[in-house]
Amino acid sequence: MKLSTGIVRRVDELGRIVIPIEMRNSLNISQKDPVEISMDGSSIILRKYENRCVFCGALRPAIRFNGKLMCSKCLKQINEENKDKE
Ligand SMILES: [Zn+2]
Repeated sequence: MKLSTGIVRRVDELGRIVIPIEMRNSLNISQKDPVEISMDGSSIILRKYENRCVFCGALRPAIRFNGKLMCSKCLKQINEENKDKE
């Protein structure tokens, strides 16, 4: 969901900007949390970085596919569910 806040921040001499505290709070971003930076056209997207399986949310997923992480349990389940369809 895109939400224009009207908030404008200046980039400092080291290229840093401050993420407003309200946004950090609502997205549960704390000090020292890793934040993933990506680009979409001329926009910069910041997302809290979490090493979790995209399907079940398990921590320490082992497999990376198209930039997404998944655990071996979910991969096994996907393989089993698609076995009959081949
Ligand atoms: Zn999983």
